[in-house]
Amino acid sequence: MIIKRKKTKEIYLGNLKIGGNNQIAVQSMIKSKLENLDAVKREIDILQKCGCEVIRIAVFDQSAVQKLKILFEQKIFLVPVVADIQFDYKLALDSLDAGVQCVRINPGNIGSLNIIEKVVKKAKQKNAAIRIGVNSGSIKKEILKKNNGNMVNSIVESVMEIVELFEKLKYFNFKISAKASSVLDTIYANEIISSKVDYPIHLGLTEAGPLFNGLIKSSVGLGILLSKGIGDTIRVSLTDESNKEVRAAFLILSSLGLRKTGIDIISCPTCSRTKVNLQEIVNSVENILKEKMKESINKLNETKIAVMGCIVNGPGEAKDADIGIAYGIKKAAIFKNGKVIKRVDTENVLAEFEYEINNFL
Ligand code: SF4
Repeated sequence: MIIKRKKTKEIYLGNLKIGGNNQIAVQSMIKSKLENLDAVKREIDILQKCGCEVIRIAVFDQSAVQKLKILFEQKIFLVPVVADIQFDYKLALDSLDAGVQCVRINPGNIGSLNIIEKVVKKAKQKNAAIRIGVNSGSIKKEILKKNNGNMVNSIVESVMEIVELFEKLKYFNFKISAKASSVLDTIYANEIISSKVDYPIHLGLTEAGPLFNGLIKSSVGLGILLSKGIGDTIRVSLTDESNKEVRAAFLILSSLGLRKTGIDIISCPTCSRTKVNLQEIVNSVENILKEKMKESINKLNETKIAVMGCIVNGPGEAKDADIGIAYGIKKAAIFKNGKVIKRVDTENVLAEFEYEINNFL
């Protein structure tokens, strides 16, 4: 089964093309405080190394604009940057001057259509993109009232109002995001928007929650939309490190066959046959592979590595894996394509497994 993606208009954020036939781009957002520029630089570096393709950064005042300028002067960004603007449109203009390839504006907060027109004018001048970012938490009161408080319809109307303005201004280099903390509202709003227009859609949930909640809500919400062919960029919002958002986004996309993750670790859920602490072992394997996993994102050949809790069923249950390890009582088996190639004492097996993985990769 292959997902047939909806063909949207192609737009560009600097050199990155979005929509059209392009891959779904993975985005994250800087969480370090801008006052601590070294921490911001470290975070950008980590994000870029782990495959993040678009970096969003909140620009909340003039000092943030100055920090942004420094980051551009020092050529820290290797991927396009989206400045997140909420209330003051002048910050959007200044961020575009500083060098961002896109500004995200929230129609519920930014002000009148005349003000938005000024941002469009500047974006045109700079050849930059705009993300129309509507959030359920900041819908204009009059739109909510007109729709009798119906959140989905209010989100759609808020988006369409700006789309119509952009079209009137003959500005087409934009994408749309319509987010709610309710998974269902996000799904319905995006489905309606996707049926109305062909502009690229950025998918995400707002306030998805801590790691566990956020991962589940995003997997369900984004997964359902992606399975219907909707979505051109995604972000998995988590109250956790930003690089985990990137890893999660790639895993969601790869589980639907929409992107490759490179190395994919699979492990069994364990059962009463398991005689080892498999959770600890999986963590160790993840640590062994950490650097390789970062490098391998986007590689065309995906490698499945299995960590299984018993020697009786492990190799068979993980026969789709390229290489794996299955634990017995004192010995563990290393297997390739479902066939055991080596039996090793459990205390030595991780070192041996690492050696075999390195040979394999
Ligand atoms: S591989 Fe073995 S230990 Fe793991 S779930 Fe299957 S039967 Fe249980």
